[in-house]
Amino acid sequence: MSKNAELFSLAKRFMPGGVSSPVRAFKSVGGDPIIVERAEGCKIWDVEGKEYIDFLCSWGPIILGHAHPEVVQAVCEQAHKGLSYGLTNPHEITLASMVANLVPSIDKVRFVSSGTEAVMSAVRLARGYTGRKYVVKFEGCYHGHYDSLLVSGGSGVATFGIPGTAGVPEEMAKLTLVLPYNNPHALIEAFEKYGEDIACVVIEPVAGNMGVVLPEEDFLKAIEEQTKKYASLLIFDEVITGFRLSLGGAQELFGIRPDITCLGKVLGGGMPLGAYGGKEDIMNKVSPEGPVYQAGTLSGNPLSMVAGIKTLEVLIREKPYKYLEELTRRLAEGISELLREKGIPHRINRIGSMFTVFFTDQEVKDFQSAKSSDTQMFARFFRALLSEGVLIPPSQFEAWFLSMAHTQKDIDDALERIKKAIDSL
Ligand SMILES: *Cc1c(COP(=O)(O)O)cnc(C)c1O
Repeated sequence: MSKNAELFSLAKRFMPGGVSSPVRAFKSVGGDPIIVERAEGCKIWDVEGKEYIDFLCSWGPIILGHAHPEVVQAVCEQAHKGLSYGLTNPHEITLASMVANLVPSIDKVRFVSSGTEAVMSAVRLARGYTGRKYVVKFEGCYHGHYDSLLVSGGSGVATFGIPGTAGVPEEMAKLTLVLPYNNPHALIEAFEKYGEDIACVVIEPVAGNMGVVLPEEDFLKAIEEQTKKYASLLIFDEVITGFRLSLGGAQELFGIRPDITCLGKVLGGGMPLGAYGGKEDIMNKVSPEGPVYQAGTLSGNPLSMVAGIKTLEVLIREKPYKYLEELTRRLAEGISELLREKGIPHRINRIGSMFTVFFTDQEVKDFQSAKSSDTQMFARFFRALLSEGVLIPPSQFEAWFLSMAHTQKDIDDALERIKKAIDSL
């Protein structure tokens, strides 16, 4: 048995499915998952010493590349001064002010420990602020594993949610309205019917969790208009897009100002960190200033703070966004050409340093069209890539990410490995 397989079977004895997060078990692509020994730059090595060019980037956080020396140094220096105080430290103030300066709609910010916690707290805040109960979400968007947002809906029209998992009561799911992505008509209809009771609309301004799906021109504007008209709050879940698409996130790119913004992933540069923030009058409703309770023993943890500060400092200094976009374009176009040569139908949705290869001949603009992708084909593609030493997300409905550590040469190497993989399909 390989060392990966041996360790995974041991893992399954002591952890459900052998993992700490489901998708790591590689269930949708088959085969034993790799178990990671270490990572540096754009490379990652499993316990057998096999090297992979990494386009998973820890699902997004690793925008500077793995083990960036400045981030590592900041974390090590802080570690010597204590791992957690349970009291305020100066780094929180530094990072909060950086976030407020960079993200256009944020005046004040509250730190939490994950993206899930950020969105969960933002929804509670929206309900507390508006005194309303309904939450609107869009089919195919993922906002972490919070009950209210772990619901699915019908297709193509607005429906009340049904539990997306065991353990969420129907009564709870019914407070969530599920709408199709990129469909302003369904949105307007939902607001006409329920607008007075809608506390907030939660959206990934660029979807990353049904694979990358870009918002159509008027879609985000329509959401902004409807939420304003009915005095509901607009929550941008920028856990992926924040500091990934630009320093000010998707809101800066599209010129939209949400009421609350959720952050995570890149914000912590690989350390556990999330945040939610917004205008002062909304954020002042959060305890201890206001009546909406939210707390955390490890919130504002000094290690996460210094990792976040250093990550943002490097991003501000290097402004890598043009570079990342250009590199990503080359990779995506290269893959497209290889697939075309083989006559394999595909669509690639791409923005900035994130993209998804769908195996379909339909345009992918919502969850329905994303699901037209041939997931068996994806599974074979994934396994062929893995065997050639290219790591991508082990699911069709995820984004590939690039980091500043990827060079032109790495992309050329990756394309060579990808060519071999495609030839073997
Ligand atoms: C990853 C993700 C989350 C959840 O963040 P965790 O840190 O995994 O809890 C929430 N929203 C979006 C858009 C995400 O991609």
